[in-house]
Amino acid sequence: MNPITLFRSLLRQDSPTILKSYIFEALAQRGIQYTDPRIQNCVAKLDAFSDVDSIDEGLFVACVQADVETLGHLLLGDLVIPDFGHFKAVLTEIFEDLKENTAGNVATYIPQLAHVNPEYWGLSVCTVDGQQFAIGDSETPYCVQSTCKPVNYSLVLETLGVETVHRYIGREPSGRGFNELTLNHEGRPHNPMINSGAIMACSLICPELPLEERLGVVLDTWQKLTGGYRPGFSLEVYLSEKRTADRNFALGYFMREKKAFPEGIDLHQVLDFYFQCCAIEMTCRTQAVVAGSLANGGVCPITGERVFSRSTAKDCLSLMYSCGMYDFSGEFAFTVGLPAKSSVSGALMVVVPGVCGITVWSPRLDRYGNSERGLDFCNRLVKAFGFHMYDRLLKPNGAVG
Ligand code: GLN
Repeated sequence: MNPITLFRSLLRQDSPTILKSYIFEALAQRGIQYTDPRIQNCVAKLDAFSDVDSIDEGLFVACVQADVETLGHLLLGDLVIPDFGHFKAVLTEIFEDLKENTAGNVATYIPQLAHVNPEYWGLSVCTVDGQQFAIGDSETPYCVQSTCKPVNYSLVLETLGVETVHRYIGREPSGRGFNELTLNHEGRPHNPMINSGAIMACSLICPELPLEERLGVVLDTWQKLTGGYRPGFSLEVYLSEKRTADRNFALGYFMREKKAFPEGIDLHQVLDFYFQCCAIEMTCRTQAVVAGSLANGGVCPITGERVFSRSTAKDCLSLMYSCGMYDFSGEFAFTVGLPAKSSVSGALMVVVPGVCGITVWSPRLDRYGNSERGLDFCNRLVKAFGFHMYDRLLKPNGAVG
């Protein structure tokens, strides 16, 4: 990319110079945030000339030279959502409409969730090109709860490989509630997206390390997936989760009785670790980047860092597709047709593979434990954009075979 071409694309009217704000306005129109790590080098150089309003060709070239390929792509290249303004407008309309939906109830099994304001409503998107959009309560932290499951599952796939992992965990939807006391015919958890399977995944994450270091590994992974945001942690949620966890203890003992765990694990430590992972805090904005990393085959869209291998991302999305919405997963796959993971805090990650990741957060849940507005949103999303996995078959020239 030639920096002069880039400079000329930013010129307005007959002026021979540009204002710095033109660059950021042009990027923002395409969904690229001022804080995007890919442009920070260039931002720092431009800021060094903060007393200069107008930038001429020479100064522009000096500031962007080192990042000209990236900047050129972001400003002039083909991005996955070409008309980001239209995309945002449609999402905003859906977001506004769904405020009306006040169905469902917040989770009540711990006071920390029961007392959350049920009105919270956030929606954030991150495309595979790092185009971002956030609206509503997108900066308010919440506990990831069950949305930690795909991250932990991916982590064990990375470290142990698919064959070893699936000696311990099945990959079949259970058709039962997320915390039901049930195992498959081999006495193993049905899949990693429900509690039993997630507890098992926790037993496989760096068991040789002390507990605090295991949590560190998980937090580091989240941080890479978000492109640099260090997740928070709710001590209150963790403590009350642990105090009221009879069912999760029961699942743990049930699996231990069936000799489902790897040799030598300490069950109480494993459960503790699972409660800690559920108490990790994210915001919609940052978790959308996590979903975007999965959509992008394991590479964080805003840093370009590979966090998971392609095959890990593929396996994780496959199980999110078949098992991510608890015992509503079959219905969700039929009607929405996208990989997703819900949680009792009301967070819901939904992935459009190769296009974008989305996180919505609304604490009112239906009887399965899925966010009411979240589900409504997914239905509206696929109708608006034809994102259902098999929507292309509806177009006469999209059919295969
Ligand atoms: N902490 C919750 C539990 O273990 C997580 C489950 C969920 O989000 N569905 O019961």
